[in-house]
Amino acid sequence: DIKRNHRRSYQFYSLMMREAAYEKLSMENDLKLALANHEFYLVYQPQVSMQGYQLSGLEALIRWQHPSRGLVSPKHFIPVLEEMGLIEEVGLWVVREALKQYQIWLAAYPIQHVSISINLSAVQLRNPKLTDMLQKEVKASNVLCKQVIFEVTESVMVDEDVRIRKELNTLQENGCHFALDDYGTGYSNLAYIDQFNLSELKIDQAFIQKMQNHATDRLIIHHTIEMAKALGMKVVAEGVEMASQMALLSAYPEIFIQGYYFDRPLSAEQMTQRLETRADLVWEPALKTLN
Ligand code: C2E
Ligand code: MG
Ligand code: MG
Ligand code: MG
Repeated sequence: DIKRNHRRSYQFYSLMMREAAYEKLSMENDLKLALANHEFYLVYQPQVSMQGYQLSGLEALIRWQHPSRGLVSPKHFIPVLEEMGLIEEVGLWVVREALKQYQIWLAAYPIQHVSISINLSAVQLRNPKLTDMLQKEVKASNVLCKQVIFEVTESVMVDEDVRIRKELNTLQENGCHFALDDYGTGYSNLAYIDQFNLSELKIDQAFIQKMQNHATDRLIIHHTIEMAKALGMKVVAEGVEMASQMALLSAYPEIFIQGYYFDRPLSAEQMTQRLETRADLVWEPALKTLN
């Protein structure tokens, strides 16, 4: 009986494996077509100053609207694009599209001091041609390097790759900024990270979501903000949803907030609406705020 159970569970397991393999293959095939079929688009999430709720930045986030799967999360398809070697191509599209949209807003609204943030995957950063590509794209646009923030994660830095550091420095010499995304989920310490001259640190949403109930998370947030300040970095708290989180974070008037509390990521049209109706660029909490 035990034997039979084993066999059955093995069969089940192998069926799951086959299904997973098939699923991956079909996603890969679909991703190959997605760019040509215009299934990718960008949404934009505002970043707002704690003091005065002034719009300070917009983060571009990719979306994939699959004809039958519906909306697929970037958490699912970005790793597949990386594995397939397609992230370069899609990444280039993201940079172009974000800069194009940002220029439209620059021409229509007084947002010169509102930056545009673009995510780069670790795989993209390993490509020695990336710096030239980014520099070319920014130069070809009406956007100044200092208006652009490239977001990278800690995994980029743990390799202690001297070349990547030099590449980043080249872009930084041209005025481009880099942000450390999802801070606190990796292993590197800020003293080490300081060598990369990053201008911004984004505290991962995991800390924000636990901060009300866990003193440890409040402590980590507190010391992260203090240290980032000492290193001259701008701090963004990610994933702020509730008024109670805002209340705790208001102890740090110098930080910036990104989260559903103010806005979910918005389509270009929705963002245009916001900019149209908020001439002073002062943001308001979203209507249905949780407590
Ligand atoms: P990320 O760069 O850390 O982006 C922030 C994520 O948090 C976004 O998820 C955003 O929708 C979500 N978020 C913002 N505020 C809140 C909140 O208050 N509550 C909750 N629960 N979530 C919030 P999204 O858009 O699904 O993106 C997930 C990740 O996919 C991004 O994390 C980034 O790592 C990656 N990604 C997205 N777009 C791109 C891209 O164009 N290129 C690359 N390489 N990666 C991207
Ligand atoms: Mg990001
Ligand atoms: Mg993040
Ligand atoms: Mg992330």
